[in-house]
Amino acid sequence: MRSAAPELAAPTCFCRDCLGDLDIAARRCSECGSPRLVRHHALPSLTLAHIDCDAFYATVEKRDNPDLADKPVIIGGGKRGVVSAACYISRTFGVRSAMPMFKALALCPSAVVIGPDMAKYVRVGREVRHAMQALTPLVEPLSIDEAFLDLAGTQRVHGMIPAKVLARFAQQVERDIGITVSVGLSCNKFLAKIASDMDKPRGFATLDQDEARAMLAEKPVGFIFGVGPATQERLSQRGFRSIADLQRADETDLMKQFSTEGRRLWRLARGIDDRRVVADRGAKTISSETTFETDIRDFATLEKMLWRLSEKVSSRLKTGDLSGLTITLKLKTADFRQRTRAQSIHAPTQLAAKIFSISREMLAKEIDGTAFRLMGTTPTCSTAARRMPNARSTIFARNSAKPL
Ligand SMILES: [Mg+2]
Ligand SMILES: [Zn+2]
Repeated sequence: MRSAAPELAAPTCFCRDCLGDLDIAARRCSECGSPRLVRHHALPSLTLAHIDCDAFYATVEKRDNPDLADKPVIIGGGKRGVVSAACYISRTFGVRSAMPMFKALALCPSAVVIGPDMAKYVRVGREVRHAMQALTPLVEPLSIDEAFLDLAGTQRVHGMIPAKVLARFAQQVERDIGITVSVGLSCNKFLAKIASDMDKPRGFATLDQDEARAMLAEKPVGFIFGVGPATQERLSQRGFRSIADLQRADETDLMKQFSTEGRRLWRLARGIDDRRVVADRGAKTISSETTFETDIRDFATLEKMLWRLSEKVSSRLKTGDLSGLTITLKLKTADFRQRTRAQSIHAPTQLAAKIFSISREMLAKEIDGTAFRLMGTTPTCSTAARRMPNARSTIFARNSAKPL
């Protein structure tokens, strides 16, 4: 492995396997012969990355059982469930995440179906995240297996440009954790996320604003995050079907028609996105807790309080258009010891009754004559929650309050 001294001209092409610098026109690495090259005329200026694990749950299962390596693997629950993750072999049969299991098995009858082991995926996801945090403090997780990283200004610390840091990271994850990731490198979040999807699995794609503009032009407006069927319909009525239509539009005109959303669309259509990477924001939590006036020991009283907390949390979820995937119950004893219990659920929810019933189950197990002074319930949310699996596992140990 070679690393360029900072005073050398910044590379525009390098080898992902040995990290050696290459000419931008190189087809293969002159050092190691690898065809896996990263090239971009403005490579050193690309500092914002989106890293996404490849078919995460399926890859973890394959790692843990080498017999599965060449088999189509589907992670999912029972015949009535949906596909939580499909390995790349099963995807060649047309199997996709969130597809009903019966349909997936009709497409790929030879698939090996494995029930999700959320506790294990959380563990592996955490290992990947810790490795990311060694690269930059600005790591913003989006879900268990993906995150944004802002590597601007880290070149001196690492002694190499962000692109190389990321290529080395991907190697490390493969070697030390045994799974693969895909990297999207760009100048902002929107484009980095698009890039990470361009070269999967084990990929590395770069995308600058000019390239993005051209690429986006051909896409439908629904390609922009947050543009659901209703917005698509409204845009379509005014003649905006492709992103090119938005690119041609006048900013003020779009703002008149769609107010702040119009401005957002105008900017994103041009690949402009000013959102910053915010560390540790991935798992949004909307907690609700209450400290009792006097300590409480009995279940019925706590249960009543819990219902009120669940209602409060539910309305906050609805306001934020979020769903909870993991419900955490927090209790503080009269002598200030904290107990934390968490349960991930089958499908993300906003419903008070659901949050209540999950929390209540956990609460019931804690009633042992102890006097409690505080109780709280926290749904951990993810915007990607809808695609999460049919899992039910307690993933937090007693007295550990570390979220995902
Ligand atoms: Mg992924
Ligand atoms: Zn090489």
